Amino acid sequence: MRTEERITGIKDLGIIGGGAAGLFAACFACEKGMSFELLEKMSSCGNKLLLTGHGRCNILNLKAAPELKSCYHGKGNFLYPALASFPPSEAFAFIENVLVLKLTEEDNNRIFPVSGKARDVRDALVSFIGEDNIRYNFRAVSLSQDGSGIWTVTSEDGREGRYKNIILATGGMSFPKTGSSGDSYKLAQSLGYEIVPPKAALAPVRISGRDDLDIPAGLTVKGCIAKITEGDKVLSQTEGDVLFTHDGLSGPAVMELARGVKRGTVITLDMAPDLSDKVLTESMDQSPTRKFVNVLSSFIPGSLAEYAAGCSGASSDITCAKTTKDVRRKALSAVKTFTVTASQDPDIGTAYVTAGGIDVSGFDRKTMGSKTHKGLYVIGEALDIDGISGGYNLTACIAGARLAVGSIGI
Ligand SMILES: Cc1cc2nc3c(=O)[nH]c(=O)nc-3n(C[C@H](O)[C@H](O)[C@H](O)COP(=O)(O)OP(=O)(O)OC[C@H]3O[C@@H](n4cnc5c(N)ncnc54)[C@H](O)[C@@H]3O)c2cc1C
Repeated sequence: MRTEERITGIKDLGIIGGGAAGLFAACFACEKGMSFELLEKMSSCGNKLLLTGHGRCNILNLKAAPELKSCYHGKGNFLYPALASFPPSEAFAFIENVLVLKLTEEDNNRIFPVSGKARDVRDALVSFIGEDNIRYNFRAVSLSQDGSGIWTVTSEDGREGRYKNIILATGGMSFPKTGSSGDSYKLAQSLGYEIVPPKAALAPVRISGRDDLDIPAGLTVKGCIAKITEGDKVLSQTEGDVLFTHDGLSGPAVMELARGVKRGTVITLDMAPDLSDKVLTESMDQSPTRKFVNVLSSFIPGSLAEYAAGCSGASSDITCAKTTKDVRRKALSAVKTFTVTASQDPDIGTAYVTAGGIDVSGFDRKTMGSKTHKGLYVIGEALDIDGISGGYNLTACIAGARLAVGSIGI
């Protein structure tokens, strides 16, 4: 402990929130030789991190910064200096060499720990930071700055910490049981920052009339095209697998679309993009005595083929030779222009990511620092920035943490 700190009790940095962004910020502060404390509301850090990548933690996306920029729904420009100054390749090297955690690359530049365990990522971070630098069960409820620029953070139970700089890394408001329940917005609002209304991103969608839909829950249809349409206009489009759940739709293609979904939004799925009327007809002509539903199921999952054949009005054992053009087209349309309506706004509690949050206009993208409060930085999901699926959200947390800590002069 430096003499000044021993006398005043003031540390260089207080990091509020021990999720991915805060934990990485603490590691960088450690490396830089800063005196700091990580203040975490829960009794352990990185609870959301443990859930990531289905417990495997897709920690980075290795694309270069210019490519990454387009993966943050219009906020890539704000993030660009962070992504360019600490690109994923450098974050990869930091994790392998400094945190001593081996990583591996999978399809679409996605990076995971070799062990396949998110817990190993969390444990490596906490072990590097050191338990002595973490104050658990410290729920920050107030944040104030005195005339000499020193910040005081007060916890719900009246404890205090005093710091020259603050990094706010308190997350969004999805999966609130992990600790991120919207405190970011209250703390930022108390200092006068604008909040873009939070909503679900990367979330399942509930649909009207699910009980009447004869498609089993648990069915995954690979390689679909999902669209949000308004009349003839396509508002957004994604590609990927779709999962039918007991109350609606999930899977990457639908979850990606969810940030644009509200109650009443119409979603159209093409569940067989490569299947055309011509391809189906040719296949039927080659097997006139085969059942129509069996030919369909050579292109799509069996239960979906049964659903499509049912929609066409044909009997279940009709052969290809007896299938009329009208029946064939109706079956094809049931699969290629499958249309449902969202029965409610996607639930932010079960969303993987929160869209909206602390408005970036109050912050300098070259430092992640406030334009009005000296020594205040905001990083991670607390900000109005959300990425697509594939490691982009954790990539943003890490790059933002690096830029913020790097911008603090000590
Ligand atoms: C199921 C699931 C799977 C996911 N998979 C991936 C994936 O594989 N790859 C990827 O890139 N992204 C993934 N994400 C998204 C990613 O996990 C988040 O974007 C990221 O963890 C956000 O990190 P954060 O540090 O900003 O916030 P959080 O991880 O939410 O951390 C915020 C921390 O702040 C603490 N806190 C909150 N309020 C206070 C307070 N008042 N005082 C003190 N502490 C406070 C919380 O307890 C928490 O520890 C996934 C998300 C979910 C839910």
